[in-house]
Amino acid sequence: MEEERTQSKKRKRNKPRKSQNNNNPSHQKNKVTHEPNQSSSAPAHPTKSSTFLDKMRARLSGGHFRMINEKLYTCSGKEALDYFKDEPALFDMYHTGYQEQMSHWPEQPVNIIMKWLKNHNPSLVVADFGCGDGRLAKNVKNKVFSFDLVSNDPSVIACDMSKTPLDSSVIDVAVFCLSLMGTNYQNYLKEAHRVLKPCGWLLIAEVKSRFDPNTGGADPKKFSKAVCDLGFSSVLKDYSNKMFVLLYFKKKDKQKSEMKEIEWPELKPCLYKRR
Ligand code: SAH
Repeated sequence: MEEERTQSKKRKRNKPRKSQNNNNPSHQKNKVTHEPNQSSSAPAHPTKSSTFLDKMRARLSGGHFRMINEKLYTCSGKEALDYFKDEPALFDMYHTGYQEQMSHWPEQPVNIIMKWLKNHNPSLVVADFGCGDGRLAKNVKNKVFSFDLVSNDPSVIACDMSKTPLDSSVIDVAVFCLSLMGTNYQNYLKEAHRVLKPCGWLLIAEVKSRFDPNTGGADPKKFSKAVCDLGFSSVLKDYSNKMFVLLYFKKKDKQKSEMKEIEWPELKPCLYKRR
């Protein structure tokens, strides 16, 4: 994955325009379905013009993904929830682009988390914060509560993950796999702390450059300190992967009665370049 190192200027327009290119059938097709052109007049073999249309479709689709991605990194969880409530089709558009980006990563962090769970007791109850297509739940034996902004699957609970419907102290493992996207990401971690049992695990996988101060990312020590101040102990930091870091924390058994003000570092958006 190539990634823009600098935060680009916030675009005024954060949604693909509905009315743009209305007279262009390829655009209409591309907007929500990502299906191949099924027009009866379409030639059986690709011609120069159909290859061109395919390229244009892919470009539009990639552009929409990058726009939605930027939106999610530059707004709060509540705004993101409203954004998708207005147009749930944008969520599919986002995940088509997301999977495309992921296909270029040598290793996907969600697979490492699956392996970690498979090496632990399957009775551990998991909360997957920002589960995407819910593949973690589908690939482990554990009971998994999956949360995301939109649910296309009955096993996924649609909500802003800063406010899940879970009771307090019921979860053994809270997972954030590339999902600390909102500008209020600290509220997601506070929610994880609330729902975790004492000594419960917090597993965070994040894009490496977001924690690289040399390229404008956050200081990982500051981030780790903030998480510890929230009531966790740092257990392991794994920087071995080229694309992402994996941070393992455990919720402290006993909480200090007086909470001090926590200094959360800003996490820069992870923006994707056009391929
Ligand atoms: N964890 C999945 C998907 C990562 S993409 C995987 O590794 O495959 C990040 C996901 O976080 C997106 O699906 C996005 O919709 C979700 N997300 C971002 N902010 C959220 C919020 N406030 N509440 C719920 N889900 C959120």
